[in-house]
Amino acid sequence: MTPLEDVQRVVLEACTALGSAEVRPADAVGCTLVADVVAGEAVPPWPNSGMDGIAVRAGDTPGRLRLVGYLPAGADPSGMFVGQGEAIRIMTGAPVPEGADAVVPVEDLRVADDDADDERGEIEALVGVQAGRHVRPAGGDAAIGDVVLPAGAEVTPAAVGVLSSLGIGSCTVVRRARVGVLSTGDELVEGPGPLLPGQIRESNRPALLAAVKAEGFEPVDFGIARDDEAAIRQAIEAAAASCDAVLTTGGVSMGEADHVKGVLDQLSGGTFRWFQVAIRPAKPFAFGTVGGTPVFGLPGNPVSCLVSFELFARPGIRRRMGFGGQSLWRPMVAAEAPDGLPRSSDGKLHLVRVAAENRVGGRWVVREQGNQASNALTAMAVADALALVPDGDGVAPGGIVNCWLLR
Ligand code: AMP
Ligand code: MG
Repeated sequence: MTPLEDVQRVVLEACTALGSAEVRPADAVGCTLVADVVAGEAVPPWPNSGMDGIAVRAGDTPGRLRLVGYLPAGADPSGMFVGQGEAIRIMTGAPVPEGADAVVPVEDLRVADDDADDERGEIEALVGVQAGRHVRPAGGDAAIGDVVLPAGAEVTPAAVGVLSSLGIGSCTVVRRARVGVLSTGDELVEGPGPLLPGQIRESNRPALLAAVKAEGFEPVDFGIARDDEAAIRQAIEAAAASCDAVLTTGGVSMGEADHVKGVLDQLSGGTFRWFQVAIRPAKPFAFGTVGGTPVFGLPGNPVSCLVSFELFARPGIRRRMGFGGQSLWRPMVAAEAPDGLPRSSDGKLHLVRVAAENRVGGRWVVREQGNQASNALTAMAVADALALVPDGDGVAPGGIVNCWLLR
């Protein structure tokens, strides 16, 4: 058996970064930036008010002031001026007019004259403000020349907002990985029809396609290949030729009909590796590159398949998309297991499907979920973390265990 980290190292080495593409910010979410994004204009473009209130000369506050104008957001301030003893009513986001250097918020105002309207009359600033108070300076968010998003950063929804705030209509990112998904097995049927003797409903390919999509990769469905060497070869070749990574499921354990590993060995030009990973579930794993495309031979047991995706395919494909270091991995937390996580010694790291709860004060608590057999998907579906229980007799009640948070 090979330790988990050694297998992950082999996978990551083969998962080189993809080329770049120029895309609209909205299409770049989940991708990594190839170059720094530099502000070509100031945000905000001019000083503006952070509050609804009045624009004033700070030195005039507190005290009675004469309203001489009104500036809603979007109004052009040219020609407007706040002189001594004067104020201009101003709304959040409106440009701060000439002469003014602070804003007194509406909460701190009292209308001092019954005839006052939005732009005329007497108003009293009940508190004194300092120069700059509630004024958002030009370039306060981004000044011209600032690196607002560094190369390598992930384009998040907030980053899309930043790019938009700068008027940037496209950005250069590492291409989104196209991931081909293919299942194998004569027993598998799709859809709701009746099951013939010996048949089961397929679950791995729909689950993998969903996982691929949820990760922000682009899923490509290559269907079910029968347990036939030629059919599997054809499907893997087609998928590897048109995708940036290929996920197969089934056919990598010790059985007679387990053709995936043989085919991958033939196609992968010496890069093929067949592992017995020292973990449970997801012990068998085949890996190789076909024409440079990494092919992940995931196990057929449904839980093993998804755990293997988590441990090998997800970080590998993220590396292809330009992620590195800590960002390759799920966040890990140390959690308390109030009921314990008992196990027996078998030389493997156990990845126990647990529900994780973040208690007040930041303490994580995990509980084992349902049937932990490698074919029992229901526990995986309700779990949201994998507890890493090292070889031995497990975690005692109240003990601490490291967990990867899956969601
Ligand atoms: P294999 O590794 O091909 O021998 O498959 C191991 C177990 O997983 C067997 O019980 C298969 O029936 C089951 N299995 C394989 N592929 C799938 C799939 N795509 N969906 C559901 N179960 C599967
Ligand atoms: Mg099979």
